[in-house]
Amino acid sequence: MRISMNAQILLGALAGVLLGLGLGALEPDASARLQGLYVAGLIGSLFIALLKMVLVPLVFSSIVVGIARLRAQQNIRGVWVTTLSFYIGTLVLAVVLGVTASNVFRPGAGLQIDMFADAMAAFEAKRLPFPEFLMQFVTGLFQNPFASLAQGSIVPLVVFALILGVALVHGGERYAAINRLMEEMQDLSLLVVNFIMRLAPYGVAALLARLIATQDVELLSTMARFVAVVLGTTLFHGMVVLPGLLYLFTRVTPLALWRGARESLITALATSSSAATMPITLRVVERNFGVRPATAGFVVPVGTTMNMDGTALYEAAAALFVANLVGIDLSIGQQVIVCAMSMLAAVGAPGIPSAGMVTMAMVLQSVGLPVEAIAILLPIDRLLDAVRTVVNVEGDIIGSVVVEKLNPPQPVAAPVQANPDALARSVG
Ligand code: ASP
Repeated sequence: MRISMNAQILLGALAGVLLGLGLGALEPDASARLQGLYVAGLIGSLFIALLKMVLVPLVFSSIVVGIARLRAQQNIRGVWVTTLSFYIGTLVLAVVLGVTASNVFRPGAGLQIDMFADAMAAFEAKRLPFPEFLMQFVTGLFQNPFASLAQGSIVPLVVFALILGVALVHGGERYAAINRLMEEMQDLSLLVVNFIMRLAPYGVAALLARLIATQDVELLSTMARFVAVVLGTTLFHGMVVLPGLLYLFTRVTPLALWRGARESLITALATSSSAATMPITLRVVERNFGVRPATAGFVVPVGTTMNMDGTALYEAAAALFVANLVGIDLSIGQQVIVCAMSMLAAVGAPGIPSAGMVTMAMVLQSVGLPVEAIAILLPIDRLLDAVRTVVNVEGDIIGSVVVEKLNPPQPVAAPVQANPDALARSVG
């Protein structure tokens, strides 16, 4: 009997959890544990490296092709507007949820910040004041495309691909060959993703085994209340709010969502990186949810780099946790600032492990909380990062299904034609 890839990945995840529990139960320096961790690290890193390898050509070609096709169908404006509205709307819901839960359950009240003096003493916080963040963010959007291709910097790559896609449409027939080249590059990259997927069950098992075996259970229990509030609200957002929106807009049920999306969600859990998961996310939305490549090629890459509900929720909840630790009561106005900053910080965080921790500094500073408190959060971040990454990726999948539904295919207009006026304008 052939087991489907979907089921294989699920089995891989279960095997990884069991293996992780087994390895975690061994003595910390037992050689079986060390060897097990080494092998798991090797397989896991190989899987992530392969995904990152295909990420750049795939994202680049998908966006360029997506824009060109959208323009040809003349619904690019609708797609832009619905994508951004959906992403901003869900980010707002996420931060409001995080702040409300923190106000109700008050995690951190009762603990004191000096309990963590050791951790904080050894920690040099990287300060990221808002003007500096803004400067970095804005200039980071634009980069020499060859540098970002080579370094795999996803955000400037996405921006350049968007611009190139628009230019290609303006250029029309004259650049038909490049357009075709991009289409073929996208097809070919997806073929490579299919190859990599064969390793996915093993990669997922290895990464989860490591994640669970190296979890610091003691630390987690010291901050159990905070961890429970963050996990509880993140799961609520991921299992109730987002699937609810999906059902509302498209009538796709939560069960169908889970069935269709799980390859991608489990990979997000294992890799803690929405960027590394993106090749699989593109694959599932097209294959399992029937999102047209033109829509997916636009909505998924933009979502991966900007739409992070789990991260926004976490940053808001963590800021309130720190406020409780240091015994500061944040006013409503300050909490609104925390919400706005958390959204910005999530938009600015790249889709890599623990990225949210770096932009966290800005959120804390915005209301005068000690940035050093990040030292307390870092050791428990692995588990929380894994869970918020799943919700980040889920938001992108749901976003593309909703945007597709709201922007149905239109009768195909005449093939893209060279627009001599536009060309003359851009050249002259
Ligand atoms: N790891 C997250 C992601 O890739 C970002 C974060 O640290 O919150 O989506």
